[in-house]
Amino acid sequence: MIEQHAIGIDIGGTSIKYGICSSEGKIIIWNSDPTQADAPREEILEHLVSICRRTIEEAKSRAITLTAIGIGTPGCVDIRRGYLMGSTPNFAHWRDAPVGEHMEGALELPVFVDNDANMMAYGEFKFGAGRGKGDVVCITLGTGIGGGIIINHELYRGSFYSGSELGHMTIDFRGRKCNCGGTGCFERYGSATALIQDYNEAAPESPADSTIEIFKRMKNGDVKAGAVIDLYIKYVAAGLASIVNIFNPERVIIGGGVSEAGEPLISRIRSETASRAMESSIKNVEIVGAKLGNRAGILGAAASALDEVQRKRISSG
Ligand SMILES: [Zn+2]
Repeated sequence: MIEQHAIGIDIGGTSIKYGICSSEGKIIIWNSDPTQADAPREEILEHLVSICRRTIEEAKSRAITLTAIGIGTPGCVDIRRGYLMGSTPNFAHWRDAPVGEHMEGALELPVFVDNDANMMAYGEFKFGAGRGKGDVVCITLGTGIGGGIIINHELYRGSFYSGSELGHMTIDFRGRKCNCGGTGCFERYGSATALIQDYNEAAPESPADSTIEIFKRMKNGDVKAGAVIDLYIKYVAAGLASIVNIFNPERVIIGGGVSEAGEPLISRIRSETASRAMESSIKNVEIVGAKLGNRAGILGAAASALDEVQRKRISSG
């Protein structure tokens, strides 16, 4: 098939990343703008339109033909309408937004909108650590825990687009309160935020502000860092064991800030998960680190938009 190009946009809490990506997973242009998390909804929509206009001009100047625009946003998205349903964490007014309709009205390209964690998972599935596999679960251990589930080469979103909230799986029903309204959610124990919080509670005399710092202290012999990380790995493995028992995927991909600790951490998570999951469920499952870092979101959004255009072409004959 001829190589095609799309704009991929990844709306994050601190920055909006965007670029021109090819159907082969190449990023031709990559940019980012700061997110205006307190801006009114209309302003964010206009910002997205202006990002696209700039990028379309850039594509023209390089003689690149664009086929579609793909957008990953936090929150729950009705993908048929490109409609953001309800509110989003970390944004004051980014809610109930007709993103697809607004942007298609302003731009002459088809626009596809989906949840950001789904787009990250799709990026890893198409071009990263999940390449060549059909059943993949992707989790990102960051500020919270995001999840994306691919079953038989397609994203699983749930019947009403609200599924795959792996970070809000209960791992202690009497446990910590979560922002989602639940109690004892996976992300209250397994996210980067939780790791930092747990360490700072254990070592109030010398708080750390990043997971990298905590891992560094562990390497340098900080006993408290070692103990907190030991417990952290058990928490992550407890969540992963459930995911493996339920989905029995070919691969589990671990991304997000914490995964920057690399293979030494992943290998400990791998063996701890193996000791907790059912033998028949974990057998042959590979637990690996993500490959695309913070490029996964725009690559996934662009690829998903291109695949969607292709699907529509086929179904309309
Ligand atoms: Zn929760």
